Parts: sequence; C-alpha cells; structure tokens
Amino acid sequence: MSYVDDVYKKVAEKNAAQPEFLQAVKEFLDTVRPVIEKNEEKYKKLALLERLTIPERIITFRVPWVDDNGQVQVNTGYRVQFNSAIGPYKGGLRLHPSVYLGIIKFLGFEQIFKNSLTGLPIGGGKGGSDFDPKGKSDNEIMRFCQSFMSELYRHIGADTDVPAGDIGVGAREIGFLYGQYKKITGLYEGVLTGKGLTYGGSLARTQATGYGLLYFTEELLKINNKDIKGMTAVVSGAGNVAIYAIEKAYELGVKVLTCSDSTGWVYDPDGIDLEALKEIKEVKRARLTEYKNYRPNSEYHEGRGVWTVKADLALPCATQNELDLEDAKTLVANGVVAVCEGANMPSTLEATEYFKEKGVYFGPAKAANAGGVATSALEMSQNSERLSWTFEEVDSKLKGIMVNIVHNIDAAAKEYGKDGDYAAGANIAGFLKVADAMIAQGV
Ligand code: GLU
Repeated sequence: MSYVDDVYKKVAEKNAAQPEFLQAVKEFLDTVRPVIEKNEEKYKKLALLERLTIPERIITFRVPWVDDNGQVQVNTGYRVQFNSAIGPYKGGLRLHPSVYLGIIKFLGFEQIFKNSLTGLPIGGGKGGSDFDPKGKSDNEIMRFCQSFMSELYRHIGADTDVPAGDIGVGAREIGFLYGQYKKITGLYEGVLTGKGLTYGGSLARTQATGYGLLYFTEELLKINNKDIKGMTAVVSGAGNVAIYAIEKAYELGVKVLTCSDSTGWVYDPDGIDLEALKEIKEVKRARLTEYKNYRPNSEYHEGRGVWTVKADLALPCATQNELDLEDAKTLVANGVVAVCEGANMPSTLEATEYFKEKGVYFGPAKAANAGGVATSALEMSQNSERLSWTFEEVDSKLKGIMVNIVHNIDAAAKEYGKDGDYAAGANIAGFLKVADAMIAQGV
C-alpha cells in the first residue's frame, strides 16, 4: 500500500465518527499524491503526513451561562490548534448547533493550507461551540461570550493563537470576547481579529472574504481568457461572506440572482437588492422571508434551491456540503462556467469531481475564500505596529494577495501535471510551504 493510502486508512480508522474531517483529509491526500509520491521515502521516514493530520493540541471545555430567565445553560467549547509550522495558530470561531469536534477539526485542517496560501506567516487553528445564537438576546450572547473567553483566554495570545469570526461570530461577538479577554488579562493586544474599528480592527476586514472571493474569481476567469464583466451569478448564503461577495460582484459588473438562509432562498430576476439584504440581515437580524416586502417582483422559496437557477457563476457562501452531485449536474446542464467557494468545503467530493470532469473552472475554498484570513493577518500587522492603514491600502493588499493565489495555484497544478485542476494546485502549493517549515524545524 502506498504511503498516502496507508495514512488515510489510519486516519479513517481513528476518526470514523468525524465524516467532515475525513472528507477534508481525503480531498487533500488525493490531490497532493503526486508530491508525496515524488518524496515518498523521505516523508514516510519523517511521518510527515501523520503529523500533519493530527492536531498539535485540542482544547475542549465547558461553557456555562445564564439565560434571560435565570436558567443556567451549558455548551461545549473547542479550540483546535492544528499546525503552527509557519506562524501562530490563526482561524475563526464558529457558533452553531451543528458544531462538534469533527467540524472544528475539518475547518482547522483546511485553515492550515489556506493560511499558507495567503503568503503570510499564520498557522492553522479553529474553534467554536455548539451554542445556537439564533433567537438569543444581546445579553445572552454577551454572557455566553464572556463565559467562553473565561476559559479560552489561557490558551490564546497575540503571538500564539489569534481567533476571529466564522459562522455565528461577527463584530458583536468579537467585541464581547475581546472585552472579557482584556478584563481577565489586562492586555490590550491583537489577540482577536475582526475587531471593531474603534478598538484595533482593520478597515476592509468586514468586506474581505466576499471581496476576496470576487477578486479571485475575476482573476481565475482572466487567466482562462474570460471576462467576468456581464456575467450572471447564483450565490447561496446571506451572511457576511455572501453580502460582500454580492457587493463586489455588482462593482465588477456581475448580476446576482439569488441568495439564501437556513430556511429558504430568494430569486430576484432584477438582481438581488443589496441594500434590502443588508437591512434584513445586518440591521434587523431577520429572515429572508422579509425580502419580498422590499422587492415584490422577487420569489421566496422554502428549503434549498439556488443551484437550480441558470447562471454563469456559482458562488456557494453558506456552509459545508451545501452543493452535492445533483446540484453540480444541474449547474453544468445550465452552462455554469466557474464555481468558486466562499464558504468552507461547500461542495461534496462528488460535486468537486464532477466539475473537474466537465471542465468547469473550480476555485476551492482554501484558495477562493482566503481573503478573510489574509486580511485578519493584515489586522495583526497593524495591531503590532500600532497603526491603522486606509481602506484603499488594505483593499489593494487584499487584491494583490488574491491575484497571487490564483497564479500560485495555477503554477503548482501545472508543475505536477494537473493543469487546470485548481483544487490540486491549492493543496500542493499550500502543503509545500508547510512541509518545508515542518521539516526545517525538526521533530
Ligand atoms: N473564518 C474565516 C475562515 O474560514 C476567517 C478566519 C480568520 O480571519 O482568522 O478563514
């Protein structure tokens, strides 16, 4: 049995109850196979793949908090410090009832290579809790965040591990977490990113993942001699990533036809009204059912279905495994040109394979959505030098990073005989840097 297959077998045996983590590892190992085979003896002796697939540290903790009725509630908190070969652990915190160790491990594993691709010195980590923010009051959110940080603070720091947002964690939550960190430690340091602009946050961080996704998509099309201007797009999600992807899409001359949330989806033949979407989601924290009040011409449907709408671009910006083989077939039948992932691992393995087979340009999450964490790293730089850069400065660095990622993953794919396979290119380019640093630093 080859080294890759042997390692995957061991990982699968040990993590049978964590399908999302296994999916991420399988996708990674399958695509870096040519690199591993070229260095099989050396990597095997160093147990490089075993070390890469076991987190350096897993922290699990109890998070008790008091709800508005005076009832004590208890959740589980996680921080997975996966790999620090190229920098301090960096990655978001996810608050969602679906969170368990397998989700945090898959996200942390992906984060290692994503962070490597940014070209900035950040290692991979991820955390979160099974806490459900939906329907909670501001005070309940605050008490949860304070309790979460009362344990997490001892494991993080500006030079060791720097969490940020992910699903369920935005500016409000980062504020409460930061306040509690400061209260306990007395340190005013860049321990979290995605902070508010009045206390060390970076301009353009809010927009960064969505903007970055569109810069990436634009460049991916460009190297394939296609112009993004005038294209149509279907977007899923209605959170921070989707909203700013839609905003940048309009700036680049792309018409966006759909968006979705956990209960349903919207089709707007005139193009999604960004101001309405921002008001519903960012101001009112309400459901997309409200969208019809702003745009009588639009359609609201229960359940899922954005991938049934014909468009040139598909931009999944909701969550993992939201686009399966059936969806991929529908998109291809409708003539989709490119699929670029704003969410983490939104396409199933079968969907990804199908896109590859059919010659659809596929931008994998760890490359396409790296703009968020890249801008987090820029926030860390600003905090370290105690300066704030302008919006234009941050945005132009973000654009440069995304354009570079496209060229690097394209080159890596070509070098290993996988021309046009950007998923392989992303994994190979991300892996090579981490592997080099791990080997250089010894066992
Ligand atoms: N949660 C985002 C991601 O998946 C951002 C992480 C960060 O900014 O540290 O990359």
